[in-house]
Amino acid sequence: MEAGEVTGMYPMLSVEEALGRVLSAISPLPEEKVPVLEALGRVTSRDVKATCDVPPHANSAMDGYAVRAQDTAGASPKRPVRLHVAGEVAAGYVPPVQVLPGTAVRIMTGAPLPPGADAVVRFEWTEPAGEDVLVKKAVPKGQDVRPAGEDVRAGELVIPAGTRLRPQELGMLATLGETEVWVHRRPRVGILATGDELVEPGKPLPPGKIRNANSYSNFAQVKRYGGIPVLLGVARDREEEVAARLRAGLQQGLDLLLVSGGVSVGDFDVVKRALAAAGKIDFWRVRMKPGKPLALGRLCLGGRQVPVLGMPGNPVSAVVSFELFARPAILALQGARALSPPVAFATFADRVAEKDDRRHFLRVRLSLEGGELVARLTGGQGSGILSSLVRADALAVIPEDWPCVEPGARVQVILLPP
Ligand code: AMP
Ligand code: MG
Repeated sequence: MEAGEVTGMYPMLSVEEALGRVLSAISPLPEEKVPVLEALGRVTSRDVKATCDVPPHANSAMDGYAVRAQDTAGASPKRPVRLHVAGEVAAGYVPPVQVLPGTAVRIMTGAPLPPGADAVVRFEWTEPAGEDVLVKKAVPKGQDVRPAGEDVRAGELVIPAGTRLRPQELGMLATLGETEVWVHRRPRVGILATGDELVEPGKPLPPGKIRNANSYSNFAQVKRYGGIPVLLGVARDREEEVAARLRAGLQQGLDLLLVSGGVSVGDFDVVKRALAAAGKIDFWRVRMKPGKPLALGRLCLGGRQVPVLGMPGNPVSAVVSFELFARPAILALQGARALSPPVAFATFADRVAEKDDRRHFLRVRLSLEGGELVARLTGGQGSGILSSLVRADALAVIPEDWPCVEPGARVQVILLPP
């Protein structure tokens, strides 16, 4: 097939159109219950509502004395108020006495507020006087008291379905007394590299060959976004071999397939025919750099359709295409609601003299200079130059209609997670 024929059949899509098509090929996986300690990075499949107030009882925010606020009226260092200390309560215990008029209870941070008290006077505003305490400051009602339900009310929606669980959500689940949480199943993501030139690390490198990088970066990316990577090895540049490995992958119950290489104009046919033989191709080519020859296909197996992302073979294209398309696909398979990458705005420090009408994703390093976020290119921007991606912590997004980039330009940057 001629390149012209191919490009005619598959119009180049914008990044948004391509992402839309990828996501429309995805539906969330079934749910399962997992222990809270194993739920980091998992995505909730049900709303989590509080079954109790947090905190469950009013308690002290400070070490001091629980008092009736009205008893401290007019108190000052010169005219302290004297209150009788009727008892003491520490965190984890029930107050032994109530606070009657003219009395106080020594109280530690987190201890339940004794009945009768409505405020806490911090130690630093008091002075001990035998069995009494001298209060040197008037406090209003509620001073340093954390009311029951201040954090969360019973019945309140605390963690909505579709939330990717972070450490703070695990702490909240524990606070609510939960030991398990409903999450979507993790997607099994097959990773296939293609290319006669590829050799795995650890093996001798014969003349003319290079190392397989993409399977390793994509493996790590799948893991990072909550998927289970399934390595399918390297297929030679032959349609039958690509097809056989894709079929073998499908037998392993995959939810998504990532293929790298073999989708640029020269060798598009290898992956295309392999895909067409077992399913169909949805789109090919996206108006972006790096990563233009991205393809989306679907493979059919026993009535099931598995989406296949054909990503360009250049190591930077493979990583960038993953961040833009495979990442949201993997998160969507887990039912996540937030699919956009974290972004910021920065001042571009370099000059890019000339660019084409694609959206460019430039490898940059961010620094704070005089309170301003500055993005600097990390080196060569060729899609084979992985070292500049190693030095980068963000991708600067240069819009399609910019013919060049001048120093000082304000650009959006996609943050690459540390
Ligand atoms: P392709 O997309 O197959 O035309 O490959 C584009 C470039 O990426 C070629 O220089 C390939 O040698 C290289 N390449 C393809 N796959 C990989 C891989 N898995 N690891 C490293 N480089 C690759
Ligand atoms: Mg190739």
